[in-house]
This record gives sequence, C-alpha cells and structure tokens, in this order.
Amino acid sequence: MKASVVNAVGGGFTVQELQLAQPQGREVLIQVRASGLCHSDLTLAETGFGYSPPMVLGHEVAGVVIAVGEQVSECAVGDHVVGCLIQFCGRCVPCLSGHTHACLHPEATLRGPDQPARLCCSDGQPVEQGFGLGGFAAQVLTHESQLAVVPKALPFEQAAVLGCGMLTGAGAVLNTAKVRHGESVVVIGAGGVGLCAVAGAVLAGASRIVAVDLAEGKLQRARGLGATDTIDASQTEPVQALKALLPGGADHVFDFVGVRAVVEQGLQMLAKGGGLYLVGIGDGTTRIDLHTLGMMSNHNRIVSVYMGSSNLKRDIPFYAQMALAGRVNLAALVSRQIALSQIDEGFRSLKDGSTARVVITDFEH
Ligand SMILES: [Zn+2]
Ligand SMILES: [Zn+2]
Repeated sequence: MKASVVNAVGGGFTVQELQLAQPQGREVLIQVRASGLCHSDLTLAETGFGYSPPMVLGHEVAGVVIAVGEQVSECAVGDHVVGCLIQFCGRCVPCLSGHTHACLHPEATLRGPDQPARLCCSDGQPVEQGFGLGGFAAQVLTHESQLAVVPKALPFEQAAVLGCGMLTGAGAVLNTAKVRHGESVVVIGAGGVGLCAVAGAVLAGASRIVAVDLAEGKLQRARGLGATDTIDASQTEPVQALKALLPGGADHVFDFVGVRAVVEQGLQMLAKGGGLYLVGIGDGTTRIDLHTLGMMSNHNRIVSVYMGSSNLKRDIPFYAQMALAGRVNLAALVSRQIALSQIDEGFRSLKDGSTARVVITDFEH
C-alpha cells in the first residue's frame, strides 16, 4: 500500500510502497478515505520528538474498517471510523477515572518488541507509526481503543477533522474549561484548531466569542463558525480592542499560538476569576514571567490543555452528531483537499491565512 514516509528528520514526506501486517488481537485495519494535516505532524517531521525515521505520521484519520483482529468488539467490517492519537490502556487509574487522555500506559495498545512490526518497508525494515496510527497512508492498522465509529452520512473529509482539531479545540472549551452558557470566550489564533474552539464555544452557549488573529481571512472563517466579534491584531492592539468589547475582561481566553507576547496579552484580557488556557505550543521554547500577586488579586488561573481533555469514544460521535444536525459547520473547516504526494505543499499552504484545514482525500497519487 502507498504511504507518505518521513525518511529523515527535516527531510520532508516521500510517497512509497509499504507492507502492512494483518490485524491481530484488538487491532483494526482501515481503508483510509481522508487524512487531515495537523501542525503537530509537521513539528514531528522537522524535529523527530521521540520518534526515529523511517516513520509514517498523520493522526487525523477517517475511513472504513476492512478487517479486524479476533478480539475486536468496538467496531466491525464496514463501519466508518475516525482515528485519534489518544492511546489508552483502559486499566490504569486515570483511564478508570475517565481521563483516558492522561493514560499512564499508552504503550499497552502497541505490539510488543517480540512481535512483528505492524508496518514495514518492502525490505522488511520496521517503520514507526506516529501515535500508533500512521495516517498518511492508504491503509492504517491500529488498536480499536484509538477509533470511534461515526455515522455513514458524515463525509470522510469532515470526519477526519474530528480526530484532532475538534477534540483539541472544542474539547479545550467544553471539557478543560467547562465554559458555561452566558460566559465570554476569547480565541487567540484562528487556525484550524482555534476555529474548532469557536465551534465549541457556540455549542457551550457562550455569550460573546471573540476571535483574534493577524489574518483577515481567518477572522472571516471564525465569523462563519459563530464568532460574535473579531480583532485583527495586525491592525489594532488586541488587549485594548478586547477591553473595548468587554470592559470587564473575558471569562475564558484560549491561546492557540503559544508565543510569549500572546500568552501575556491573554493574561491581560482576563476578567476577575477568568482562566487562560494554553493550547498552542509555539516553537516549543516559550517561557513567560508571571506577576503572582497580580494574578492572585484578579483571581485568575492558567491551565495547560492536552487533547482538549477529551474522551474520544464519547466526544467524536458527539461532534459528528452536532455536524449532521447542522450545529457545527465542519465543511467550513476543510478548506483544501489534496493527494498523498502533496503533503509538503499542503503544510506550506497552512501558513497562508486563507487556509483552515487541509485534508488528503486522494491516496492514489
Ligand atoms: Zn493534531
Ligand atoms: Zn490507561
């Protein structure tokens, strides 16, 4: 089967033929129909970050189940499924407490070193699957715990976005921050994941949803997804602009950028008792200075967000239902569809302000 392989850190993506094993135990084989480009894959491809090439990345997968291992009980051949990077054992204390995103033994979902690799080059050399998925490929072999079944009416390119973008963005709002109806929300950085936070804030019943970005094209998309107000930070000082809209500050500020200046602006935007949620990772080296007394006197908190504190088995079907009911406009998130061989170009186009999410839907070319 065709897959797009990272053969060297920083070496980009190359389409080649790979061998995939047959499913065993709780493994599921999927014919991939759509695979989204998430910025984390680009970071992994450029830095390695714990993985060593050759590797197949891609963790926003939607497709059809074509074979299952003998112990699979959560999906069946013919089901439409969405894959997610959350790997959970289902047995540790965080898993049993409902916090599967914080599982202590994600490796329990993978094959052991004594077993043949799931994915190999044609010469038999093992190939790493990013997050146990390896979604930049015509087929994926993964553990059933990483999959959620979705209705067949949902188009694959929209379903793919649920696997990371929606779980992270909408999950930050609904699960991590638990935004209540009537509260105010600021989303800084209206790229693909930030737009999902806007959609989540609509579902939460937020009274004001203010999107902040440097690109007018992204702000336009944010309005399309339900932002009530937008601030173009290339034209105006964002903290003052926010205070003009919400004089008392915002109840919840979500930072999808992750650079120091933006984190500090986010803190300045908070209402008394408000929370700042850190989702964007910047270049991974961001540090901030905190005036602790200032934070305490305004009763503020800073919370880091991992995968939107999501439970993929609950949340992916929920967002799918909301999309089919017309309450989340997933179609507006998918701005471009590409072929497997166009991943490098697809990532370049994500830097363009007019592009939200890029999804691979052609696995032949
Ligand atoms: Zn992602
Ligand atoms: Zn666990």
